[in-house]
Amino acid sequence: MELFNSEEFEKYVRTNYKLLFTLSPEQNYQTEFGGKCDACQKDAFLKIHDRAYNTPKFRQNPATQFTIFFIQCPSCSRLSFLHTVSFMTYKQDEDGDETDDHVYEYYQLYRIPVIEETYSAKHIPNTKENKTLIETVSEASFCLANGKYTSATIMFRRAIQVIAKQLGAKGKTLFNQLEWLKNNENNLKIDLTDVFHDNAKIIKDIGNQGAHPDDDVDLHSFTHEQANGVHDLFLHMTYEVFMKPAKMKALQEELKKERKLK
Ligand SMILES: [Zn+2]
Repeated sequence: MELFNSEEFEKYVRTNYKLLFTLSPEQNYQTEFGGKCDACQKDAFLKIHDRAYNTPKFRQNPATQFTIFFIQCPSCSRLSFLHTVSFMTYKQDEDGDETDDHVYEYYQLYRIPVIEETYSAKHIPNTKENKTLIETVSEASFCLANGKYTSATIMFRRAIQVIAKQLGAKGKTLFNQLEWLKNNENNLKIDLTDVFHDNAKIIKDIGNQGAHPDDDVDLHSFTHEQANGVHDLFLHMTYEVFMKPAKMKALQEELKKERKLK
C-alpha cells in the first residue's frame, strides 16, 4: 500500500480521531497505558495483552504505522481490539529546528469489542418498547467512544426525550415534557426523584448547547470529561426508571412473604 498523500491522511486523522497516547522509543514496548475505558467509562490502566503491526511495505512516509492492540480493562474485564495509527514526530529544539529526538503519537481509529457490549444501556430491558431508546443510547456511546463529544451530548439529550415520551410526558418541547413529568403521574407510576429531574435538566441544557452553538465560544466544544459526565448522569436516570422500581418491588415482596405480612 502506498499513501499517495500522507500529509492529508495525517491531517484527517489528527482532526477526527483521539490521541490515545504519546510514547518515546524506549516506552514503545510498555504493557499498559493509563486511560479511560470506553466500555465502563472508568479510569484504568488498560492492559495490553498483545499487539500486531501492519507496516505497509511500500510507502512514502516511513513514520506512519498501523498497530492493533489487544487490551483488557481491569475494571470491567472487557477485552477489545484497538486499531490505531501512529505518526512519528520529531521534537523541536528552542529555535524550532527538528532534532533527532522523536516520539510516536498513537491515534485510536476505532475499538472493536470482543463481545457485544451494551454497558450504557445495561439498565434498560431489551424489549420492543425500548428499541428506540437502546439504539439512541448505543449511538451516543459510539460517539463518546470515538471522540465525538458534541454528537454524544446531542444523542444523550435525544435519549432523555425518548424516556420522557415513554413515561407519557405531554408537550411539544423537551422543556415542557420534563415539566409535565414533575407535575403529573407518569405511565409507569414511578415516583421520580429530584435528582432525576435535575439530571434531566442538565442533560437537556448541555445537549442544547451541542445542537445550537452558543454566543459564548468557550461553550462551543466539549471535553471528554464533560461528555463522560453527561453519560454518567444519564446512566443514573436509566437506573431510576428501569432498575430501582423493580428492585424495590422484589425486595418488598420478599420481606412481606418471609415475614408473613399482608
Ligand atoms: Zn472497563
